[in-house]
Amino acid sequence: MAYPTQATVTEVGMRDGFQMESRILPTEVKVRIGLALIEAGIVRLEATSFVSRTAVPQLADAADLVARLKGRGAALSALVPNVNGARRAAAAGVDRMTVFASASETHNMKNVRRTIAESLAGFAEIGAIAAAAGIGLSASVATSFGCPFEGDVPPGAVLRVVDACLEAGAEEVALGDTTGMATPRIVESLLRVLRDRHPRTPLALHLHNTRGLGLVNVVTGLELGVERFESSIGGLGGCPFAVGATGNVCSEDLVYLLDELGIASGIDLQKLIAVARSVQNEFGRELPGQLMKSGPRLSLPAQSLSNSMRGQSGTVE
Ligand code: ZN
Repeated sequence: MAYPTQATVTEVGMRDGFQMESRILPTEVKVRIGLALIEAGIVRLEATSFVSRTAVPQLADAADLVARLKGRGAALSALVPNVNGARRAAAAGVDRMTVFASASETHNMKNVRRTIAESLAGFAEIGAIAAAAGIGLSASVATSFGCPFEGDVPPGAVLRVVDACLEAGAEEVALGDTTGMATPRIVESLLRVLRDRHPRTPLALHLHNTRGLGLVNVVTGLELGVERFESSIGGLGGCPFAVGATGNVCSEDLVYLLDELGIASGIDLQKLIAVARSVQNEFGRELPGQLMKSGPRLSLPAQSLSNSMRGQSGTVE
């Protein structure tokens, strides 16, 4: 199987993950985590979202956070839900802003209280704000691989959103598996449809591991030539429609997979694992990431494994 020789990982834990956590981290701690991620080799960092401060208090410090992480080695991006958010993001000095809508009507309504058509109608102005400020524009399509309310999502519904994003000036599109409904077959069929229609548009996969298929779907993407992935440190986050579900594909587990497939990401796995452990400490709960528990396979019998086994009784199989 031929894989790409390199892949780009966009770290989204500080947005997609933090917004799902009940504990609100002080900006100071977020800055420390962001800088540690950059030090580990993350060059694309989705740092926050310019949403309503009351609706998402976890991200209320968006402008302050961007100001403090800007110019520190990573391209900073932020989600913008509307024109007002785009203005705030531009004023804060993000390097890139991301417009988004869901491919399914019910999810879009529950997520942003607008119809898809109403969301798409705002894209052109957001694109104009980004262009005027010299800021890159990305697009993200939620529920691309399935909707928790409507079930299967037809590729045509995804294309409708993608087309509007590209018309607004988006340079790349992330396909979001918002509630972890993708399977390799669904990933393959949607990627083929999008490649047919937009052969030159860079596509990213934003996968959630809600049902344990996150990295499996990554492999399917790699096999089809996808070189951009979005993931969260430690596997932070969750799913608003499935209490207790795991969050995004885990960044350090993803980097381990890329390393093992000989795909260069520019990220130092050991440093990333150290960041994951520190984030786990900040939230005071066990995060889903596997590598921070087991270490890479050839680190045996390294400290990480013996530490994790210390204090356990019974057999090890
Ligand atoms: Zn997500």
